[in-house]
Amino acid sequence: MPVITLQRNKCIGCNYCVEAAPELFRMSRKDGKAVLLGAYEKKGFHTLRTPLEELYEPARRAAKACPARIIQVKK
Ligand code: SF4
Repeated sequence: MPVITLQRNKCIGCNYCVEAAPELFRMSRKDGKAVLLGAYEKKGFHTLRTPLEELYEPARRAAKACPARIIQVKK
């Protein structure tokens, strides 16, 4: 089960995660930072646990692409 975490307050709004994984990320029109779709927030960490194994690879791509290194992915 992929577990994806975004430390959202450190996002620089570059959009790379959206390009790498549009099924997981969107840019917020409000503050220009990335939104991890379906995630819950706790102490600044936004976490998505999904049973969809096919989201693992796109999440990994996004984590690799993120210049701020604020996306973590575990299986
Ligand atoms: S790639 Fe990283 S820094 Fe860039 S918008 Fe996505 S989460 Fe923010």
